[in-house]
Amino acid sequence: MKNIVIFGAPGSGKGTQSDLLVQKYGFRHISTGDVLRAEIKAGTELGRTASSYIDKGQLLPDALIIDILAATYDALGPCEGVIFDGFPRTIPQAEALKQMLADRNTGVGAMLELDVPEEMLMERLVNRGKTSGRADDNAETIRKRLDVYRSQTAPLVEWYESEGLHHTVKGYGSLEEINAALCAVIDAL
Ligand code: AMP
Repeated sequence: MKNIVIFGAPGSGKGTQSDLLVQKYGFRHISTGDVLRAEIKAGTELGRTASSYIDKGQLLPDALIIDILAATYDALGPCEGVIFDGFPRTIPQAEALKQMLADRNTGVGAMLELDVPEEMLMERLVNRGKTSGRADDNAETIRKRLDVYRSQTAPLVEWYESEGLHHTVKGYGSLEEINAALCAVIDAL
């Protein structure tokens, strides 16, 4: 079983590329952002809590998102592999993921970073906001999310490097090119 962390800033294309990897490999896809947006849509208590962070471009507390991730993962059942998208976003989350998978006799096989220049991210997210209907795809919240990425999430590159799991892929160009670069890493695992 292959567990892959797909990593990158907001707007780096994690969701789009995850969908392509699901089609090709039959992996399951866990996007913590999608899980939270489904809770918001369903009007649950968790959804209300999540909105209060998401709308400000802030991260949910680690303990809460770690519990959500574990419950989502355990609900999948046996499968070829799992793509983790949008999780981990902090070092405590990466440590929790490592422990959670070790407890289930598995681990992360690779962390694939989609590298995209910052000015391209801003442009992609502003454009996405025109159709996504996402409350957090507006210029002010995007700026905040990019700040949060830089300060809390980017340090995970070094963390996964020290685990020997980090791979960088050029995250711009055609979707096919990006996908081929990701598949080359996955196929070599
Ligand atoms: P995303 O769809 O991955 O961009 O996530 C949208 C928002 O959901 C983020 O800006 C956070 O507010 C929240 N979120 C998603 N995943 C996490 C996570 N792993 N840790 C904390 N907050 C998260």
